[in-house]
Amino acid sequence: MEQFKMYIDGDFVEAASGEWFDSFDPFTGKVWSQVAAGGPADVDRAVQAAHKAFTSGPWSELTASQRGMLVHRLGDLIARDAQKLAEMEVQDNGKLLAEMQGQVNYVPQWFYYFGGLADKIEGSVIPLDKKGYFNFTRHEPLGVVAAITAWNSPLLLLAWKLAPALAAGCTVVIKPSEFTSASTLEFVKLIKEAGFPDGVVNVVTGYGKDVGEPLTSHPLVRKIAFTGSDATGRAINQIAAKSFKRVTLELGGKSPNIVFDDANLEDAVNGAVSGIFAATGQTCIAGSRLLLQESIHDEFVEKLVSLAKTARMGNPMSTETQVGPITTKPQYDKVLSYIDVAKNEGANLALGGTPASRPECGEGWFIEPTVFTGVTNDMRIAQEEVFGPVLSVIKFKDEEEAVKIANDIRFGLGSGVWTSDIGRAIRMSEKIQAGTVWVNTYRAVSYMSPFGGYKDSGVGRESGIEAIYQYLQTKSVWINTGAKTGNPFVLK
Ligand code: NDP
Repeated sequence: MEQFKMYIDGDFVEAASGEWFDSFDPFTGKVWSQVAAGGPADVDRAVQAAHKAFTSGPWSELTASQRGMLVHRLGDLIARDAQKLAEMEVQDNGKLLAEMQGQVNYVPQWFYYFGGLADKIEGSVIPLDKKGYFNFTRHEPLGVVAAITAWNSPLLLLAWKLAPALAAGCTVVIKPSEFTSASTLEFVKLIKEAGFPDGVVNVVTGYGKDVGEPLTSHPLVRKIAFTGSDATGRAINQIAAKSFKRVTLELGGKSPNIVFDDANLEDAVNGAVSGIFAATGQTCIAGSRLLLQESIHDEFVEKLVSLAKTARMGNPMSTETQVGPITTKPQYDKVLSYIDVAKNEGANLALGGTPASRPECGEGWFIEPTVFTGVTNDMRIAQEEVFGPVLSVIKFKDEEEAVKIANDIRFGLGSGVWTSDIGRAIRMSEKIQAGTVWVNTYRAVSYMSPFGGYKDSGVGRESGIEAIYQYLQTKSVWINTGAKTGNPFVLK
């Protein structure tokens, strides 16, 4: 069975404990590989290596253009190996090969974009209110970054952190999810090949408690870039606050996908189905609350259910498959428990609601695409993130009520509005409290456009020019151009 070692200071190494943990294939439910089980000693080695690389040695000597070229080269290598990396992600997280191919083929763009940005970060000359001084600003890298990722899109979520961090001049210690570490460990082979000095990028694998916690609390880590649940994000934010570490937190969501009666219904049905069932609902931006205007509710639900019924489930490696398994056994159990919650709250089951017993699903962790109607926004099934193929349908009367329901939640990550009225589209985009509003589309993201959450969905933004500043700090430099250094006891 394949064993994956950690990557510290330019070498692939076993954990200090010599222990390994199993990684499962969600399609078969069986162990397919083993990963080094890191602990605090491994974290310390990796952080020390990253700190050394940041403060001395070749990385700290590079010009911004040289750094940018390395980041760009890394993008080229990912593009070269995209197929292999995508297949590894499918084996580890069970998402569809077609989706992971699309995703991994897109990942190089983050490295091209931020590689290009590396030498365009300019300070300013400040005009100043005082004579005899010259004042300018510099944007300097923060130092060692802890990059912690979730299991649903390991390499994409990593690229969102790694590309701006490296372009800014930081060094990085990565901790992938214990459920999906393999693709990250395959990916770091490219770090050496691209020519990054040892210690600039490190990976420590293991559990949140054994690796995540010591990493986030390590005194030499200056910034934590995290994607995961809001519960873990909250815990990390508290740890970070103790030593004033910067954070970028990309957390969960319960995004409203809102359809008005003036929308193109065919498009909206397609958007609603892909909003919740793409990636088997395991995306932070899943449109898991479908808000339907009363006048179109019944017709829309009928169309939605008939389309969702056609979804082909099975082997995620097959191009025929449209809905894959749930990535982890605990998540599978969690999704089923939420289906019980919804039933007990009195929601009407309009589709699915059971484990999938289709022969093509074998022993894997599959759940039928599930739709609940008659949901009210105060129910747990409307307020809590399921992170699975479970849709809650909520009725609304008019624009005002749609906005009220959309915002009456602690999350604010994504949102969708389906309408043919441009005025309404603009009004809704102004009123919805979410980091992203999609109008007549859903799920689009780009390396150029900032992504992140309002409210409990997160802190900071990834992608877009703004993202690189989350890895930089500003220094103000004052130079005396002739002002007399006078008597210190006489204030000017
Ligand atoms: P978790 O919060 O459980 O885990 C995320 C990462 O944090 C994992 O690597 C995990 O390690 C690690 N971790 C766990 N405990 C700690 C700790 N105490 N200190 C430091 N690190 C820790 O989330 P999931 O992996 O279950 O991912 C699903 C969640 O991610 C969903 O809520 C989803 O909405 C969110 N998400 C958000 C996105 C966004 O951009 N906003 C995108 C994708 C997902 P381990 O796996 O070893 O426990």
